[in-house]
Amino acid sequence: MNSQLPIAIIGGGPVGLAAAAHLIRKGEKFIILESGNQVGASVLEWGHVRMFSPWQYNIDQAARELLEKSGWQSPNGPEIPTGNDLVTQYLLPLSELTEIKESLLLNSKVVGVTRKSIDKLKNTKRETAPFQLYVEVEHETRVVEAKVVIDASGTWTQPNPALSNGLWTKAEQELQDKIYYGIPNIPDMKERYANKKVMIIGSGHSAINALLDIASLKDNYPNTTIYWVLRKTHVASVYGGQENDQLPARGELGIRIEKLVESGTVEVITPYYVQQLKPVGEQIQIIGHLGQEEKVISNIDELIVSTGFRPDTSFLGEVRIQLDEAVESVKELAPLIDPNLHSCGTVRPHGEAELRQPEKDFYIVGMKSYGRAPTFLLATGYEQVRSVVAYLTGDLEGAKEVHLNLPETGVCSTGITPNSTTNSCCGTGVAEMKVEIKHTKTCCGS
Ligand SMILES: Cc1cc2nc3c(=O)[nH]c(=O)nc-3n(C[C@H](O)[C@H](O)[C@H](O)COP(=O)(O)OP(=O)(O)OC[C@H]3O[C@@H](n4cnc5c(N)ncnc54)[C@H](O)[C@@H]3O)c2cc1C
Repeated sequence: MNSQLPIAIIGGGPVGLAAAAHLIRKGEKFIILESGNQVGASVLEWGHVRMFSPWQYNIDQAARELLEKSGWQSPNGPEIPTGNDLVTQYLLPLSELTEIKESLLLNSKVVGVTRKSIDKLKNTKRETAPFQLYVEVEHETRVVEAKVVIDASGTWTQPNPALSNGLWTKAEQELQDKIYYGIPNIPDMKERYANKKVMIIGSGHSAINALLDIASLKDNYPNTTIYWVLRKTHVASVYGGQENDQLPARGELGIRIEKLVESGTVEVITPYYVQQLKPVGEQIQIIGHLGQEEKVISNIDELIVSTGFRPDTSFLGEVRIQLDEAVESVKELAPLIDPNLHSCGTVRPHGEAELRQPEKDFYIVGMKSYGRAPTFLLATGYEQVRSVVAYLTGDLEGAKEVHLNLPETGVCSTGITPNSTTNSCCGTGVAEMKVEIKHTKTCCGS
């Protein structure tokens, strides 16, 4: 860490900017490389969606300190922002602080990370060679050198496909003008969806948000037909913690979607496995299995695919990273967050030690550190970067501690069947923890 080179942060989202705030606190030089034309570019793509966690969990502590010194008025803690609010009331003011602004490169997409003059195979002098980041800026490729790389580029740019086997097919690529990935802004896209046959695929919060928006369109456009395809054995398993959720907004989504399903506004098709998409005239035909039986669904006008995201590792081919083979998360995190094992939004506290990669001084943090797991919370990401920065700046004790303030219940889905009274797999209460990682238990039982 004696080099005069900066620490490179890939991505100017909430976690990348929080990393910058922690580095400022420690007097470290950094550069933020953001592919969008403003910070929070991915958040803005779902800017119309109300988050489920209130402001108090969405602001990093180091960032808050910097902002408050500049006279910024903090948004009201218990209120729940939309994605747009998160950007305009928090991320943008943060990015406009002189200490950040002078080190922020917008419209700068990282397309390669390597060690100077050394490819992935070479060991000799590897740990002392600076990193080189190849960055596309206005059709030019620039090379930026750095002593450390913190990859906080999220997963939003890499949606999963419609097919339940996870493969992208040519047919799906050809249907792109009839498929929306993520959460469309329905009030702004009325013409596209009004009085159409719309199918939503997925069972997470994105799918639920999209369903609720489409359903409200039906009030004025009654010929809108809504199909909801998911793989769960029981649709009730996605209703979540409901009244017991420590994040009431997240619980509220579960309550509203249950009402919608019970009212018959949405036709639920589950457990359904999409195997093939076919263009038929101007419409889409979906071929798949309902349980064990083949079921073909025809005449769909629009598909909304909310099947989650996966990390983009295309620019990390020349660095030595270790991701979990299934979750594609940072290897050490997988046992904590694997959706096959945990249904909770909560993981036990973790920091630098778990995030360390075989490539020295290279870290994957934020949403991307969770790979395909959908349960990431900002508060977790803020703790990650606090711990990583503490370690990088020689505060080894500080790096081991985790100060976590995280709601515990919520995205719990196992154990809920139509006949079950259980609706949370975690404890209740907001965890206020200051702990040594190695002594901590997870609420999800591992
Ligand atoms: C609809 C929705 C609601 C959510 N609500 C909540 C909530 O209520 N509470 C909560 O705690 N979490 C919530 N999350 C989860 C999570 O906190 C957010 O996804 C959050 O934005 C993740 O932050 P991040 O900084 O890790 O990644 P991102 O916000 O995705 O930021 C990554 C940044 O990197 C940039 N980038 C990508 N690739 C490159 C590249 N190659 N080079 C340079 N820049 C690049 C992107 O443009 C982007 O600005 C929600 C997520 C979604 C999708």
